[in-house]
Parts: sequence; C-alpha cells; structure tokens
Amino acid sequence: MTATEAKQFLPPARHFINGKAVEGSGGASIEIRNPATGELLTSVPDAAAEDVDRAVAAARQSFENRAWRGMDPSAKERILLRVAELMERDIEKLAAVESLENGKTFREALRADVNPGIDSFRYYAGWVRRIYGETVPVDGPFLNYTLREPVGVAGAIVPWNYPTCIATWKLAPALACGCSIVLKPSELTPLTALMLAELCAEAGVPEGVVNVVTGYGATAGDALARHMDVDKIAFTGSIRTARSLLKASAESNLKRLSLELGGKNPNIIFADCDFDEAVDAAFWGIYANKGEVCSSGSRLLIQDSVHDQFIEKLIARAKAMKVGDPFDPSSEMGSQISKAQLDRILGYVDAGRREGAELRCGGQRDTEGAKANGLFVQPAIFTGVKPQMKIAQEEIFGPVLAAIRFRDEEEAAQIANGTIYGLVSAVWTRDIRLAHRIASRIKAGSVWINTYNGFDSASSFGGYKQSGFGRDLGAHALEQYTNVKSVWVGL
Ligand code: NAD
Repeated sequence: MTATEAKQFLPPARHFINGKAVEGSGGASIEIRNPATGELLTSVPDAAAEDVDRAVAAARQSFENRAWRGMDPSAKERILLRVAELMERDIEKLAAVESLENGKTFREALRADVNPGIDSFRYYAGWVRRIYGETVPVDGPFLNYTLREPVGVAGAIVPWNYPTCIATWKLAPALACGCSIVLKPSELTPLTALMLAELCAEAGVPEGVVNVVTGYGATAGDALARHMDVDKIAFTGSIRTARSLLKASAESNLKRLSLELGGKNPNIIFADCDFDEAVDAAFWGIYANKGEVCSSGSRLLIQDSVHDQFIEKLIARAKAMKVGDPFDPSSEMGSQISKAQLDRILGYVDAGRREGAELRCGGQRDTEGAKANGLFVQPAIFTGVKPQMKIAQEEIFGPVLAAIRFRDEEEAAQIANGTIYGLVSAVWTRDIRLAHRIASRIKAGSVWINTYNGFDSASSFGGYKQSGFGRDLGAHALEQYTNVKSVWVGL
C-alpha cells in the first residue's frame, strides 16, 4: 500500500447523525492533512452547538424508543460480532486512513490500532448476555434484587494518538450496556470514527444509537460536555481538558465522567534482568507510535551497575532506527501528528539540555529528502536526568527518553512514584520477590513485570492519581456505562 493508494479509502467527510452522513449546520470546516507529507486529505465539518444538539437528540430518541437497549441480547451480541467482522473485512482501509491522518506507520495502524479495536467489539459482544444484577439477602419480609441498566446517552471524547482503538474502547462497552452514543473524535484524526459509525450501521446498529460529530474540543467537545441531555462522558486525553470536563459537568447536569489521562511512566531496570529482552522492550516502550502514547515508558530507571552498558545498547538501537514514510514497510517510526506537537517535543529537548541532562542521540527534526514535508523527529535519549527535571516530570508525548540512575529498590520506588501521574509502570528483574514488592508499591493502574505494553480487551486499563479515574477495557469498563437499580418487593 502507498499513500496514494490509501487515499481511495477516505470516507465521506460529514457528521454521522441518526444513521446517515449529514452536512454540518454552519459552513465551517476543518482541514485534515497528512502529517507525513503536509498534503490536504479532506475537510470535515467544524461542528457548531446545533450539530451536537442534533446528534444528542438522535441518541436520546433511540435510547427512549429502546431501539437498541430493548433488543434481544442475543441479537445485540450478533450485531456487535458483525461490527468486528466488518472491521476485519475493512482492516486495510481503516489502517490506511489511520496512517494517513495520524502519520503512524501503516503496520502500527494495522497491528496496534485497528486490530485491538476489532477485538474490543468481539470481547464486549461476549458481555451483552452476561450483564445482570444480583439478588440481595436483606432483613425483613422482602425480596431485593438489582438491575444493571444502561446509563443513557454517553458522550465519548477521544484523542488523536490511537483514534480507532480508543474509539472502540468507548463504543463497544457502551453498546454492550445498551447506551446510545455521541462520539467526538479529535479534530486532527476524525476519519476512522466516521468509518466506524458506517460499519456499525451496516452491522445493524439501529439509527441514532451511534453518532459521530466532528469538531474542535473547545466548541463541539465543550457543547457535548455541557449538554443537559448527555448522561455521561467517557474521555481519553489531556489533564487540561479533563479539568474543563469536570467543570462542565459541575456547571451542567453533574453528568458522570470517566477520565483516561496521560502518563510519565517508569520502566524500571534492575541489574539482574534479562538484558537483551529489557533493551528491546525499553526501545519499543518509548518509540512505538512515535512516542505519542500515554503508556510510553518515557522514564527509564536503570540500576547503577548496569546503567552504562544498558544505555550504550539502547543508543545503538535508536541510532539505527529507520524513521520515514509511514507506508514504507521498512519504516519503524512515522511522522509526529502536528506542527504544534513537533514544536512541543523539540521544546522539551531544549529544556532537557538547559537543565543539564545529556542528549546522547537524536532529538532533532529529521528533514532528509521527502521527510522535509513532514514532521519527523529522530529518536532521542537523555542521560544524567534528575527526577525533578521537567523532562522527568512532564509528559512529552514524543520519542524522547529520559534515563535516570538509581541505587536500590527504595530509591527506584521513590523515583517511580514521584510524579503527578500514575498510569502504567514496568519492572525488569529475575528476583520474583523484588518484582512483586515493586508491583505493590507503585501507584499506577498497570504494572508490567518482565514485559512492556501488555494490553488485552479483557484486562482493565486506567490511571491512579492525575492519570484519571474509571477504567477502559475488561469487566470494569461496564461499570462506567451502567446504573445499578435496587428493586424491593414486599413479601
Ligand atoms: P486533548 O485533551 O487536547 O484532546 C482530547 C480530545 O478532547 C479531543 O477530541 C479534543 O478535541 C477534545 N477537547 C479538547 N479540549 C476540549 C474541551 N475544552 N472540552 C471538551 N473536549 C475537548 O488531548 P490530545 O492532545 O488529543 O491527546 C493527547 C493526550 O491524551 C495526552 O495527554 C495523552 O497522555 C492522553 N492520552 C491518554 C490515554 C489514556 O488512555 N490514558 C490514551 C491516549 C492519550
């Protein structure tokens, strides 16, 4: 596949409301560009509040007429499985469009974005017939039981780094629970969300149940967050936006929120680890998806005695990394998402230097040949990083690794927990007791022992501290989309 071939798969650039692609109410639009080439791909509507109203009204109507929630569970299960099949049928199209709008390699789009998205639908299809209440032993002559009911109209606001996958992390459990949804994708990457909505309709999801509104966060996103007829917002994105969602909820209808936010994740290397495996995992832990990953291993904590040896190997690997055309099968890293993100990354590289960390490789914009039209960055490694430096505290969301030395278990745990974040973490050691002690001490939603980036639809994902609250994936995500009703029967 080439970028030119990929362009034939671009979807109609319109909102998807009440079962069809529709124009925006105002004439304004948002240009969608390929960050790897700068080329204009298409323009989508820049939603005004009226568009959000239309989408919420369609979702509300479908919720109240029970078109979806009232359907037989086995029928809903079949439809969600069908969505997965249709995504599989269109896997190359989805991955092609994902790579075009995001700049990630086609291979990553296929394997790490669309593929897990397909599995989300399969996994939550399996839950449709298993979401049920309990009978509760209560005092007195009563029968008490609980019902798990869909929360209502769910708004989903998602970022640009894994557009397909994260959209499915919200859509699939919300649908399994019987909710109706309005999805607002990132203004940078709205296209695969529109394709997903079309596939849901093709699979038999009734009209009005899945709606997609394209627009900016400050306007369309805010309108959704403040809407009096939206019962819940499922969000993945930055802490800054999370604060404004909390405020919007407080100032509107106290809609419930689940927030998946950023990370500054510690990847802890003890001297006795399997060296080669840990080097490889540290490499992909930071450079997968060009470092634009909330779970990236952006803080590499290395025990003193192996620090230099570990870093040398990692530098050699980073220097050999092939950065380039996302559709070239030999490319290992594509283009950053936007000029703003590129500037942010390069700004952090400057900050690291100014604070006295040593830049050992990369960290420059890569403008070789055709890359001059894109937003490519050479993979960077800083050593001599102190835990309080900006590059060790703030999420960069790019291919910049901060390596920090530590002496012992105590110091490693303190450094690991010493940020406002708590999304994921990893520990590498052959000492099973040490591994489990660290796992219990780390304040993070996931701990990976002798592995990195373990993800599965069945295993929940989310943060501690300012990395957010609520969980995506697994059975825990179902709690985000259901209410518990307690029913009393006098006997
Ligand atoms: P962002 O918060 O700027 O945007 C995310 C979404 O929120 C977009 O759709 C955007 O349009 C919308 N938005 C922005 N301002 C809004 C507002 N005032 N009201 C309502 N919606 C608004 O984040 P981003 O730059 O798209 O994504 C990068 C961030 O996402 C990083 O901080 C990263 O760590 C985080 N992230 C977290 C996870 C996770 O699962 N924890 C996964 C991926 C990304």
